[in-house]
Amino acid sequence: MILAILLSALAMTAIVGIRYLIVSGAFAFATRVRHPRLYAGLDAQMRREIAWSLASAAIYGLPAGIIAWGWQNHGWTRIYSDLHAWPLWYWPVSVLLYLFAHDTWFYWTHRWMHRPKVFKLAHAVHHASRPPTAWAAMAFHPVEAVTGAVAIPLLVFAIPIHVSALALVLTVMTVMGVTNHMGWEVFPRAVWQGPLGGWLITASHHQRHHEQYGCNYGLYFRIWDRLCGTDRGLGDFARAHAQAERRGRAAGGGGPDTGRSTRVAARRRG
Ligand SMILES: [Zn+2]
Ligand SMILES: [Zn+2]
Repeated sequence: MILAILLSALAMTAIVGIRYLIVSGAFAFATRVRHPRLYAGLDAQMRREIAWSLASAAIYGLPAGIIAWGWQNHGWTRIYSDLHAWPLWYWPVSVLLYLFAHDTWFYWTHRWMHRPKVFKLAHAVHHASRPPTAWAAMAFHPVEAVTGAVAIPLLVFAIPIHVSALALVLTVMTVMGVTNHMGWEVFPRAVWQGPLGGWLITASHHQRHHEQYGCNYGLYFRIWDRLCGTDRGLGDFARAHAQAERRGRAAGGGGPDTGRSTRVAARRRG
């Protein structure tokens, strides 16, 4: 039994780790294409981000592995695989419930991690990325990784969810974790500057958290930030992109970025 649980935890660690490498790798590649020099001079930082993230994968894999084993062998959790076990309308509702619950958990644990002692002990690892890159998605100290790793495993015992809806929640979690740290907006302007952007968190919002610290704590939604007065609006990539220009020049890269990031930065300043 112990061996089966261990194997399950190992398999989950591998899945989380490989998923991280593929998704962060894909968006890091997209960054190279879109803003070729944005991560110039950040090689050492990115190596640290990858190392912390892979360590976090093991911490995420353990509870996930135990629960996957219990679900398969003992019917633990409220995950269901028969689509009609619950009404179809419940499928999207369950996705929203999970995202909101996860966001709530993240917001309050994140605020807790900004208390000076906890920040120094744990959360400073995540903020050591200045500016963060697509590889920073899981760059957490183990204490922070534990708070992240238990959220979904606890929810599957409380809120029923179809296995495909859970897959969507995990996909949203992974993609937003990466894109929020990427240093540019992958979503169309209409999403983050339109009415939806008033409530949804994308890179522009989280960028401000990484620049100013004491604000914009949320994960998916701006609801808690707005309710608690910690929402300072959307951030600006101008500074990060200007720093990238300087790093690129210092590294002897010559002329400016092929333009797009500079144009975007200029537009956002205006
Ligand atoms: Zn962050
Ligand atoms: Zn923080």
